[in-house]
Amino acid sequence: MAVPRNRSSNARKNAKRGHHAKAPINTTPCPNCGSPRLFHRICSACGQYKGKQIFKQAEPE
Ligand SMILES: [Zn+2]
Repeated sequence: MAVPRNRSSNARKNAKRGHHAKAPINTTPCPNCGSPRLFHRICSACGQYKGKQIFKQAEPE
């Protein structure tokens, strides 16, 4: 196993961790209802995928 020869400074350590931020989730607007949904996933708001109704949304009665 490689052993570090020198201790990295706080500045170098923090500069390295500047790239560790979590990327935001990529969403696209649903073509049916326009709410943000994940790619290649059923829309959770209207239950449609590729123009087909996969499940019915709960309607308040
Ligand atoms: Zn939708």
